[in-house]
Amino acid sequence: MIKMKTKICPRCGSENIEWIIPQNWSMWSCNNCDYTGPVIEVDEAVEKQLQENWKNHKNEILNKNKNDEDDEEDDLSDEELEEKLDKLFDD
Ligand SMILES: [Zn+2]
Repeated sequence: MIKMKTKICPRCGSENIEWIIPQNWSMWSCNNCDYTGPVIEVDEAVEKQLQENWKNHKNEILNKNKNDEDDEEDDLSDEELEEKLDKLFDD
């Protein structure tokens, strides 16, 4: 039996994705979670896992992504950031 692979959103595992830019094969848009970027091709088991993960950790995933976009180069946790600010004010 050949397992079919499905193109899905890597963030939420949804198949509800659209190819938004014909000139750019890697740019997709997810109608379920508003993700844009490359999609992944997986089999059903992985798809289910991603969907489950999205259901359980939706907020964490969204927050993480938000932070990533806010400062892509500065990958600091809140604690590290506070420490940095403390040092700045000490000087
Ligand atoms: Zn999605």
